[in-house]
Parts: sequence; C-alpha cells; structure tokens
Amino acid sequence: MAVPKSTLKKLVEKHGTPLFVVDHDEIRRNYAEFRKRLPRVQAYYAVKANPDPAIVRTLYEEGASFDVASMPEFKIVYENIKGLPPKTRQDFIWDKIIYANPIKANETLQDLDRYKPLVTYDNEEEVRKIRKHAPHAGLALRLSVPNTGAMVELSSKFGAASGEAVSLIETATAAGLVVEGLSFHVGSQTMNLENYVQALNLAAGVFREAADRGLNLKLIDIGGGFPAPYDTQVQPLEVLAKRINAELDRLFPPEVEILAEPGRFLVATAGTSVAKVIGKARRDGKRCYYLDDGVYHTFSGIIFDHCQYHVEAFKSGPTEICSVFGPTCDALDTISLAEQLPELKLGDYVFSRNIGAYSAASSTWFNGFPPAKVVHINR
Ligand SMILES: *Cc1c(COP(=O)(O)O)cnc(C)c1O
Repeated sequence: MAVPKSTLKKLVEKHGTPLFVVDHDEIRRNYAEFRKRLPRVQAYYAVKANPDPAIVRTLYEEGASFDVASMPEFKIVYENIKGLPPKTRQDFIWDKIIYANPIKANETLQDLDRYKPLVTYDNEEEVRKIRKHAPHAGLALRLSVPNTGAMVELSSKFGAASGEAVSLIETATAAGLVVEGLSFHVGSQTMNLENYVQALNLAAGVFREAADRGLNLKLIDIGGGFPAPYDTQVQPLEVLAKRINAELDRLFPPEVEILAEPGRFLVATAGTSVAKVIGKARRDGKRCYYLDDGVYHTFSGIIFDHCQYHVEAFKSGPTEICSVFGPTCDALDTISLAEQLPELKLGDYVFSRNIGAYSAASSTWFNGFPPAKVVHINR
C-alpha cells in the first residue's frame, strides 16, 4: 500500500527536500508476505539493500535474521539486536546473522572469529584464510548457479562450480572446519523462476554426493533475488513461492534448515523519494527539469542496480515527454530522458515510488550535494 500523496506533501513541508521516506508498515507487510508464502524458509534480510538501523530494528522485531557482507554491516545488525542479554548473543549469531560475502579480508576474519559466525566461501584460498584467521566459523559453500533473466547478474563474480563443490567441502573438512551447508544466489530481481528450480536441483545433487562421502550437510541458503513489483510484468511472490516450496519438499527432508537472503523484496516498496524542481529549460524542443536529487544520490540505483524509477508529479494536467536530471554537473546524472509529466513550476515537488532498495544505500556526496534526508513513518 503506497504512502498517500497527501502524507508525502505534509512530510515534505515539514522536512524539505530531497527527502527519502521509509514506511515501516510496508516493510512489516513484505516480511509477513515472505513468511506466509515460504513457511519453511527463515528470512535473513540482506542489509546491503538498505542498511538503515531503523529498518534492521523493525525487521528484527518481526523475527527476521540478517545477511551481512562487511564488518560495518555486521556491527549495524549486532548493535541493533536488542532484547537478548549480551552474554547469550553469541549463541544466537548463526540464527540471526550470516556473513554471506565469499571473499573476506584477513582482518575481517580476525574480527569475526570471536562471534563464531556462519560464513560463506567458494574457493580453496578462502579455506586457508578461514582456517588461519577464523577457525571458529561455520561454513556454507556458495555454489554458482544460472542467473538467466535477472536484472543484476552475480554468477560471474561468485560461486563454486557444482563439479568442484564436494572437493571444496572435503578440503574444508580436512582443514578441521565444519561445512554446514550450501548457499547460492540466482541474481537480483529474478524474473525467471526456473533459476530457483535449477539451483535447488544442483544443490540437491551436491547434498547427495557429499552424503555418499560421509559428509552430511544440514542447511541450504537459497539467497536473494525475489523480485519487487516494479511493474505489472513481475509475477507475485505467491507464484514463485509455490514452485520453490514444491522443489524444497521434493528435494530436502524436513530436518534440512532452509534460509533465504531477501533484500530488495523486503524494502523496495517501502521507500519513496520526494524531490524539488530547481531548474527548468527547453532543449531541442524538449522540456527539461532539474531536481535536487539524482543518480549520485537516491537515484543511484539507475547506475548500480540497472533499475528505472518513474517520476510523478503531485499535480495533474496534460502531460508531455520530458527529460529529468539530477543537480550535479555530470551529464551521467540523468534520471530519465522520457518521463510523462505535466507542466511543472520551479519549486514544485515530484516523487518516485518503489525506491527503497539499492538507492539511499549507495548515495554519495558527489559535487558537494548531501544525500537525501531520511524520515521513518509508522515506526
Ligand atoms: C545482494 C545479495 C542479496 C540480496 O539480493 P536481493 O536480490 O536484493 O534479494 C542476498 N545475498 C547475497 C549474497 C547478496 O550478495
């Protein structure tokens, strides 16, 4: 359910622009939907999608766990996991946090070791590093799986080929480490549900082969990739989940623990940006608007996430095709070359919905323009 325009207007009158509005009721709805559709799966929120501590707290209160990929992300979660006495927190780390970056610096491993974390790996060098610097870590082997039809492809950077998987599990075991299970990522904003089916079948094959060699795996982490409803072509989670559940039940006995790392799905629809028109021109006959937010800021997902966001006006009226630019001096700072907008005046506001993931998270201070102010509603 989108934040009403009237609420956005009130917020912007109070806080100014650029503004980034986070709706915590929407985060709770998304989390509940995920749990409902995938009842066997514990959700580890991928913090990189939006690392705001208030989001971490809301999801923690709802029962979520967390996927982190750097020490600062680990700390954001650790410090915001309240309600557990500090002494027992360590025992809960595996249930609450997975360190899901297959490549970790030695210093990071040294920092992590005292938490006895669950970490992913996908190569032999990493086994040697973990053995030396984080011998108390539990391991999950990251498999390379098809990323066909995902908006953001990840398989070229991470993942062991399924043919070398069992040998990598043996290497880690021989080094005195414990391999708890497997993980994979089908690519972000996956529109191809067969990716999950193929990945689960690959993983089940590795489970069987490992068991044949006396290595019993007990968890499977099905990663992220669950698509946010940016447009009507995106199938609802319900459809994807039916297929995943059927494969999980067919391939993995009930005692196998199932994890997932949804990022985008939980927060994309919970973020709305509001910006102000600060400049206006007509170039080659086309109307151009300049906003006080752009691709170095809240709209960074246009560059890093290959995502396109619609810019909408508060007012209505006859529209024309416009270009919309950000405030910096770089021509790359282009939000859109084809938005349908009514005639706007300087000082008018515009807004973009479904911009909660991979947006504020990768905002910069480029050209001296600060990131948008963040306001939380329904927190
Ligand atoms: C980015 C990432 C995620 C989150 O992916 P979404 O597509 O946003 O759900 C999960 N796991 C890992 C390892 C990641 O790198």
